[in-house]
Amino acid sequence: MLLVSEPVLGTEETSALSEVIESGWITMGPRVRAFEEAFAAAHGLSDCIAVSSCTAALHLILLAAGIGPGDEVLVPSLTFAATANSVMYVGAKPVFVDIESLDVPLISPARAEQLCSARTRAVILVHYAGALADRAAWRALANRHGLLLVEDSAHAVGVEGPGTIGDAAAFSFYGNKNMTTGEGGVVTARDPALLERVRLLRGHGMTSGTFARLNSRTPHYDVTLLGFNYRMDELRAAVGLVQLAHLPAWNASRRAFSRLYRRLLDRVCPDVRVPFSDERASSHHIMPALLPAAADRDLVIERLRDAGIQTTIHYRPVHHLTLYRERPDIGPLPVTEEFASRELTLPLHPKMTAADVEHVVNALATALRT
Ligand SMILES: *Cc1c(COP(=O)(O)O)cnc(C)c1O
Repeated sequence: MLLVSEPVLGTEETSALSEVIESGWITMGPRVRAFEEAFAAAHGLSDCIAVSSCTAALHLILLAAGIGPGDEVLVPSLTFAATANSVMYVGAKPVFVDIESLDVPLISPARAEQLCSARTRAVILVHYAGALADRAAWRALANRHGLLLVEDSAHAVGVEGPGTIGDAAAFSFYGNKNMTTGEGGVVTARDPALLERVRLLRGHGMTSGTFARLNSRTPHYDVTLLGFNYRMDELRAAVGLVQLAHLPAWNASRRAFSRLYRRLLDRVCPDVRVPFSDERASSHHIMPALLPAAADRDLVIERLRDAGIQTTIHYRPVHHLTLYRERPDIGPLPVTEEFASRELTLPLHPKMTAADVEHVVNALATALRT
């Protein structure tokens, strides 16, 4: 079965893990710090903090920024539930914003501006599919309304920009992302004071970690904030260091396969639309395609499965999920609805080949004809 996404893991990861085990220290220590330094350098950032997931990263950013009950946070509905859930964790209200267009399925700055109220404190951008949101438009809007600009950069790992567009950004290393540590994430923030609060909140609000205490003369620590256990560990950091070194080459393959998809779909399936015709800066995390409005998507998914091809949908809109559906005042999100009803995510990962891309496009053409 050709999968939608697949991690690249090999002997380098195995040796890195063995080294950590042989070292005798598996919880957060020098490898986590080395991973943070390497990740920041690879993304043109001055610093970052490794955490247990991107979801934890989003939670800590909102918490450290003091967002809470009574506050509203603008979020896209075309995203993974974690984006909106993080707003609920701090007791604030997620306000769903429509996407720009079928061609640019990113949270719309114009729609966001219309939804700004006296309670709006922040906006979480999602670089959907890895395609970067518009820096100038979002900074201008954030400045006009005094909003904290947060980037959910789960899709945009290994591309420069995320972490410098907004005030803070959250990255994911879940198994289906562009690089993986199994579970894992990173927080970055422009304001060093905000980043320091995130550092404290990551480890119970404790003023020193176990490894630091081992290497200092004093066993004492204090707890100054109500923190969480959102730490990364040495095993994950060791895998992350290996993965990070391969990321540029993997993202280059993703880009090449995306371009090949775009070219072949244009020729073989002319009524299938591929978003981001402007080919903006992207990490090419997934390969979204829009089926013709009249196509029976479930049938297409079944036919492709019969041809050995897995496909998925990014996303069922968050405002359709049971947890959110019954909430009052969810405005109309017509572009999100249309996009989500026609979207089909095709396989895209560095282990596939150009022949796989051709196979998918031909199978899609056949599935749409019959
Ligand atoms: C994967 C993903 C997340 C959650 O990441 P985790 O590391 O699994 O917590 C959040 N937002 C988006 C857009 C994602 O794709």
